[in-house]
Amino acid sequence: MEEQYILAIDQGTTSCRVLLVDQQGTIQRVAQQEFKQIFPKPGWVEHDPEEIWTTQMNMLELVLEESQLEPRQIAAIGITNQRETTVVWDKHTGKPIYNAIVWQDIRTADICEDMKANNLDDHVRSETGLVIDAYFSGTKIKWILDHVEGAREKAERGELLFGTIDSWLIWNMTAGKNHLTDHTNASRTMLYNIRKMVWDDTLLEYFGIPSSMLPAVQPSSSLFGEMQIGDSRISICGVAGDQQAALFGQACLVPGMAKNTYGTGCFMLLHTGDKLSHSKNGLLTTMACSSNEKPQYALEGSIFIAGAAIQWLRDGLQIIKSAADSDEMSVSVKDAHDVYMVPAFAGLGAPYWDMYARGAIFGLTRDTSREHIVKATLESLAYQTRDVLKAMEQDSGLELKNLKVDGGAVANNYLMQFQADILGVSVERPEVIETTAMGAAYLAGIQIGMWTPEDVSAHRRIDKVFNPKMERSLRESLYTGWQKAVKRSSGWIDQIN
Ligand code: ADP
Repeated sequence: MEEQYILAIDQGTTSCRVLLVDQQGTIQRVAQQEFKQIFPKPGWVEHDPEEIWTTQMNMLELVLEESQLEPRQIAAIGITNQRETTVVWDKHTGKPIYNAIVWQDIRTADICEDMKANNLDDHVRSETGLVIDAYFSGTKIKWILDHVEGAREKAERGELLFGTIDSWLIWNMTAGKNHLTDHTNASRTMLYNIRKMVWDDTLLEYFGIPSSMLPAVQPSSSLFGEMQIGDSRISICGVAGDQQAALFGQACLVPGMAKNTYGTGCFMLLHTGDKLSHSKNGLLTTMACSSNEKPQYALEGSIFIAGAAIQWLRDGLQIIKSAADSDEMSVSVKDAHDVYMVPAFAGLGAPYWDMYARGAIFGLTRDTSREHIVKATLESLAYQTRDVLKAMEQDSGLELKNLKVDGGAVANNYLMQFQADILGVSVERPEVIETTAMGAAYLAGIQIGMWTPEDVSAHRRIDKVFNPKMERSLRESLYTGWQKAVKRSSGWIDQIN
């Protein structure tokens, strides 16, 4: 019998990737292409949905071409995607009526203020598990309906559809047939009631969003439709937001297991099983992957800027040539020379939720060097992670013994060692750091019976464990310095826009 494969579509914030995974869970091929980041104004971030769609399909074709496979050898497709990013399109023409408003975009801060003034905080927290913030899709949809001429009327006539990127891709992959999303993506919209598992009427009414715009919601591991590739019809049967897919791909499938992903931002998720617990410490409650209608939940600490701060060192400050240089430069100096860098470029996420914070570098003296600034920037990823881990331990009453990590920046050995040191917890890096895409592949493969959930753990191999080596007193005094720096950058600007 011909070998069968799973295609994992990984639609990230900066690039579109497609991975070909064989039955042993090994990645056989990857195609990746970056796409345009559009910054129309400070604090605004957009993507072109049509560029995302064509880039994604080009990568799919490239993988099939390079691997010389027949489409019939693709047993199923899994999708994982940047979350919250909002697309509104015309149901008849298939054309987006505005660019996708990206999760990092904070143009809707004033809508958030209005929600708070309308005392929606408690409702948002208890029903959606989120906090009121421009990060989530709800305020972005309202902005599009308010600002694109004729949009609200069209929406009310049932002519517009909303989707996060997964819905946009599924709709296009099924040639406009299926308007669907999964629990994990729905739970990031600030419109989905994660207790009752329905779109929330109170919030739809507040935003003025007709329910005809919304996709139907399904479990992450279920059938989302079929895509015609050549002569074959391939099932799309795994869909999850990137962070929940990574939780699944790291085999964190039972309560008490946690992972931290270091990509553009940093996202720590703790599986809490079927228990919906609300944070008292600035974390979000979100949905985890499941294969049936029985909901699974997770606590999440979302840090907006992590690897993006390293990109800023490279492209903005231009003091490193590549992200990997930051490792070598950091080890070339003995410490950060009391420099702290708070990368609050887009405000601060968990556990602070301060849209008005801005980035800052503290502790500069005449002998501060580039190396110190680079080192302090890398260390900011680890400090932010400690902020979130602390909140997670307080909320869950669990003490984490080890942290499973993934994402592009975990290639950085200095960062990983400093992370273990500043947490006082060991950090476990898997051999395959593509856990997000693997999560999507596993969801699809499990749905068609190629794998069982046990295979996800069985396939996972550890590359390296970083054990804490730093003295406790130094760890605590460094962290106290970080907390002081965060305080100083909080509430820096008075108004957004
Ligand atoms: P995303 O999926 O969010 O696009 P990735 O998981 O692909 O992100 O990781 C890319 C991020 O990791 C970039 O922001 C980049 O700056 C950072 N990065 C990559 N390699 C390194 C490295 N060796 N050291 C520090 N940061 C790195």
